[in-house]
Amino acid sequence: MTTSEPLIVLEHVNKYFGPLHVLQDVSLSVDRGEVVVVIGPSGSGKSTLCRAINRLEPINSGTITFDGKELPAEGKALARLRSEVGMVFQSFNLFAHKTILENVMLGPIKVRKEKPTAVRDRAMKLLDRVGIASQAEKYPAQLSGGQQQRVAIARALAMQPKALLFDEPTSALDPEMVGEVLDVMTSLAKEGMTMVVVTHEMGFARHAADRVVFMADGQLVEQSTPADFFENPKSDRAKDFLSKIL
Ligand code: ADP
Ligand code: MG
Repeated sequence: MTTSEPLIVLEHVNKYFGPLHVLQDVSLSVDRGEVVVVIGPSGSGKSTLCRAINRLEPINSGTITFDGKELPAEGKALARLRSEVGMVFQSFNLFAHKTILENVMLGPIKVRKEKPTAVRDRAMKLLDRVGIASQAEKYPAQLSGGQQQRVAIARALAMQPKALLFDEPTSALDPEMVGEVLDVMTSLAKEGMTMVVVTHEMGFARHAADRVVFMADGQLVEQSTPADFFENPKSDRAKDFLSKIL
C-alpha cells in the first residue's frame, strides 16, 4: 500500500430503492487530500452516494473501499469506519440538552473511549478553529444556524476523521450565514482534508474543489476540473443544469 493509493474508491456501485435504480454503475475514486464537489439536480442520488460511503445505506452491488479496505457490514469495524469518515448534514443534529462543548466532546468519549481531559482540550481548539470558542458553554438553540453548523463541523473533526462528507451543509441556512460555513470548509480544504461535498454553492465548487462530479438520474455523468466543468461542460444534461443555475 502506497500513500498515493486513493482514500475512497467506488467501483460499479448499484443501489436500488425498490424499483428505483438510484445509483447506476457509479465508479469514483477520491485521492487523499482531494476535494471533490458533487453537483446535480435534486433526486439524482447525491445524498445516497454520500450515505453509501459510510454505509448508512447498504448497496446492492459493486464495491466501496475506504483506506484500502472494503466497507465493513457491521460490528466494531463499521463503528471504526464511521469514526474515520465524518459526516456533516444539512440539519446540524446537535444534542439540544448538551452544551456546545459537550456536543463536540461526546463522540470521542462515547465511541472512542478517550479520556475527557484530552478530548476537552482538543474540542476547545476545534471550537476556536471554527470561531465559536466563546460560545462553548451555551446550548445549540442559543446559536445561529451558521454557528450551529460550524459546531457540527467541529464535532465531526473531533473524531479525527480521515475524510469528511458534507451533504448540502449550507442549504438550511439563511443566506447571510452561508459564507461563514463555506469559509471554514475552504480552510479545511486548504489544510489538506479529504472532502466530498454535495452543494449547490457554485462559488465554492469553483474555488475550493479539485474536481467537480456531475450526477443526474443516478449516474455519474461527467467529472472534470471546476474550470473545465463550468467553462466547457460536455454532456447535454450538465449544460442544461448549468444554464438553469448560473
Ligand atoms: P439527491 O440527494 O441528489 O437529491 P437522493 O440520493 O436523496 O438524491 O435520492 C435519489 C432518489 O432516491 C430520489 O428519487 C429519492 O426520492 C429516492 N430515495 C432516497 N432515499 C430513499 C428511501 N429511503 N427510500 C426510497 N427512495 C429513496
Ligand atoms: Mg440530497
